[in-house]
Amino acid sequence: MLDVNPIRADFPILTREVYGRPLVYLDNAATTQKPLTVIDTITKAYTTINANVHRGVHRLSQEATDHHEAARETVRRFLGAASTSEILFTRGTTESLNLLATSFGEAFCHEGDEIIVSEMEHHSNIVPWQLLCQRRGTVLRVIPVTDDGRLDLDAFQRLLSPRTRLVSVTHVSNVLGTVNPIEEIIRIAHDHDIPVAIDGAQAVPHIPIDVQQLGCDFYAFSAHKVYGPTGVGVLYGKEHWLEQMPPYQGGGEMIGHVRFSGTTWNELPYKFEAGTPDFIGTIATARALDYVTAIGLPAIAAHEHALVRRTLDALHAMPRIEIYGDSSDHRSLFTDHSSVLSFNLAGAHPSDVGMLLDHLGIAVRTGHHCAQPLMERFGIPGTVRISFALYNTDSDIDAFIAALRRVAEMV
Ligand code: PMP
Repeated sequence: MLDVNPIRADFPILTREVYGRPLVYLDNAATTQKPLTVIDTITKAYTTINANVHRGVHRLSQEATDHHEAARETVRRFLGAASTSEILFTRGTTESLNLLATSFGEAFCHEGDEIIVSEMEHHSNIVPWQLLCQRRGTVLRVIPVTDDGRLDLDAFQRLLSPRTRLVSVTHVSNVLGTVNPIEEIIRIAHDHDIPVAIDGAQAVPHIPIDVQQLGCDFYAFSAHKVYGPTGVGVLYGKEHWLEQMPPYQGGGEMIGHVRFSGTTWNELPYKFEAGTPDFIGTIATARALDYVTAIGLPAIAAHEHALVRRTLDALHAMPRIEIYGDSSDHRSLFTDHSSVLSFNLAGAHPSDVGMLLDHLGIAVRTGHHCAQPLMERFGIPGTVRISFALYNTDSDIDAFIAALRRVAEMV
């Protein structure tokens, strides 16, 4: 089990107060706080090695390049990818999925071809595909969500057709916390020779990933949700696919040779990395992944699992609480439920609940969570969402539950 006190000492922001009360930060699915080692890495990189990467022959540029490329190797190891050629740095999950939809779409999707997503996707795994559909006449097919917040796999099998070009689904729902059976989804799709992309934004901070073992064709995540800096994301893609996909953006770095008679592309992964990358950010990302690896994702997951159980026990005992997704089977947490919980207080608007909790020092998320189709599926305007990280404690939960009881008396 985790010793949380020394871990909390790594996160300076956790000592601050809001409205004169100690901060209880339960909005980790939106972004996680950063440990000092990540913050220090950023300061140190700017104060000692700042120079543009890949371009200079001078010492500073070489050092910055070495650190940036070492960061790519850290990400490769973290995801279990075969080669650093398969690790593309982006600005975040959103850009990773836009890159995929644009570039894969350009190479493989034509009028009447089909892309499958699910009803529980974040907007960033819906809208880029809708844009592709507008450009190419491709058709979006949607896996429905069951009442207990799971993907309907029978319906998924029925959606597969000879025109399906790609299945793109989230590993973990950012609203319900459902952990989708991506191994099964990948197996089913591959049986039909259809590639699979996984939105791993909510999985990577909680579940060890091995893309080769999973066999997925693409996997996307954001550094800022796994204790790293904002502005850095990753798209893992199998070399076989990336080689066939055209560049996403044009500019410096992504070229082999530029002539007005015709330009050639750089090798992987640089073909997809036009312009100066956020190399300070990638270096800090590697530090964040090292931090998580040193503590160990299984230990982090076990700790968060205990927090979720404690919260569910308290919420189940409260009147007027409706929890979305399947919260009944505590034993199955983390094989099919991650550390995100969404609920509503009957008769109260979620944003009122969120605002009142905020004034009691509890930071939660309210609203549609960039998943409006899922809100429509459940016929609700939004939810109150709490989400845990490795530094949350039992007393965070107790403070949250006490505050929620007070809120329930007010609204
Ligand atoms: N997918 C999921 C499942 C998410 O939770 C998020 C962030 N809320 C995103 C994609 C988008 O991530 P980012 O904003 O970091 O690009």
